[in-house]
Amino acid sequence: MDMVTIVWSMVASACLTLGLVHGLVWWQHREKLDRLWFALLAVSTAWFAYFEWSSLRAMGPQSYLEGIRWMQVPTWCMFVCMVGYVLTHLREGNRGLAGLAVGLRTLSVVLAFTLDTGVHFREITGLQRVMFLGTEVTLPVGSPSLLMLVPHGALVAMLVFVVGAAITVWRRGEHRLAVLVGGSVGFFVTLGALQSILGFWQVIKIPPGGSLYFLALLFVTAFELSMETKRVKTLSVELAETRAKSREQVAHFGRVASLGGISVTLAHEINQPLGIILSNAQAAERMLAKDPPDLPEVRAILADIVRENLRASAVIQRTRELLQRKEVSRELVNLSDLAGEVFAIMRRPLQARQVTLAAELAAGLPLVSVDRIQLQQVLLNLMLNACEAMAANPPSERRLSVATRVEGGAVCLAVTDSGPGLPSDVEKIFAPYFTTKPQGLGMGLPICRSIVAAHEGQLLAESAAPRGAVFRVILPVAAVLQ
Ligand code: ADP
Repeated sequence: MDMVTIVWSMVASACLTLGLVHGLVWWQHREKLDRLWFALLAVSTAWFAYFEWSSLRAMGPQSYLEGIRWMQVPTWCMFVCMVGYVLTHLREGNRGLAGLAVGLRTLSVVLAFTLDTGVHFREITGLQRVMFLGTEVTLPVGSPSLLMLVPHGALVAMLVFVVGAAITVWRRGEHRLAVLVGGSVGFFVTLGALQSILGFWQVIKIPPGGSLYFLALLFVTAFELSMETKRVKTLSVELAETRAKSREQVAHFGRVASLGGISVTLAHEINQPLGIILSNAQAAERMLAKDPPDLPEVRAILADIVRENLRASAVIQRTRELLQRKEVSRELVNLSDLAGEVFAIMRRPLQARQVTLAAELAAGLPLVSVDRIQLQQVLLNLMLNACEAMAANPPSERRLSVATRVEGGAVCLAVTDSGPGLPSDVEKIFAPYFTTKPQGLGMGLPICRSIVAAHEGQLLAESAAPRGAVFRVILPVAAVLQ
């Protein structure tokens, strides 16, 4: 296989491949018309390369001239696609100039097929001798005429159109785009024009090689496409990070909001150990005032003080953990144990509201992988909501049940109350800002649902029989050997 065939078939395959890639991109994103124009431009260039190759392989002047004549058709397509590409990709360009370039190119095609072959070549290209296959061939001689202005005028109009568009893009501040695309399209058109003009003046004696110059534009668009893919990847990573961050912030907000509800009872919770500490300290003072001081008794009292102190700090610590904005940290948790922790926090609030708690916590539950603090907050919210729903019931009918059990491949935590139940359109209680309480925010349930969803779980609600509501948190069993 000779060099001409190898080089030109490589150029044509590169054009077809890139054309296909851009065509597929357009197929996926129909709004990206610039990709479609580029795909068509690349395919037209491959077609053009075929005619270049066939004229280079021509066995004599006549077939060479015939090749040049047919080459006008893909050239016309390239002009139209180039205009379309510049207008859609750079979103700039003088339409009058574009129309002039395409109009003159159309005239060029008409001339190619109406004039006699030899005359056409002479009139249009002005070439008299060309080199092909290493031999200089003399073509039918003729004098250049005004018809020369048609193809060259088309090239010049196209060049001014492209450079003008690139300058406007540059002024718009998109320097990279102006240089890369404007430069490569300009390079392609300029070299085509230069070759044609130098050939006309007999400075060079080479046959057309336009498709080779197109490679610059192919590289640039391939580079742009790869940058676009990189940008999309970076953006999706950023999006995921932002989503995770805002989910954490929402969860944090939820913790603060739910703690608002228990802050009064929290003060009560801390007051209790403080009271015990005070009376113990007073007793110790009395023991020490005795003569002789009852030291063993004082030691026992001090131990009590230390224990109560630790209990008070545990309450404060748990509250601090709920309030602090901590990164999501998953750990393997037994939901029954977690419910037990929340019961400790809720003990006083339940007493204050005269709510009876019935716990049915299954033993040996499979573990779930969760953020402990976030899940505590979900259960706290559900229990506080249940208490508020039963506020109008007589104390004997304020029954709250919290149960854990295995359900298929998941673990379920159910909170059931004996309140008025839920509206028939249950989903609306999960809508942000939906509240029926005078002081309500309507954010508790949406936050809980987003936390559970972030753990690949579900938060469902339905009315319970004969009255009340049941909220179920369903979480997948952690993927470890239990
Ligand atoms: P908030 O408690 O601030 O109103 P939520 O999102 O926690 O916000 O709850 C939204 C609404 O859902 C409540 O106002 C209430 O009407 C309803 N709701 C929540 N839990 C229960 C329940 N256990 N029983 C009946 N209605 C409930």
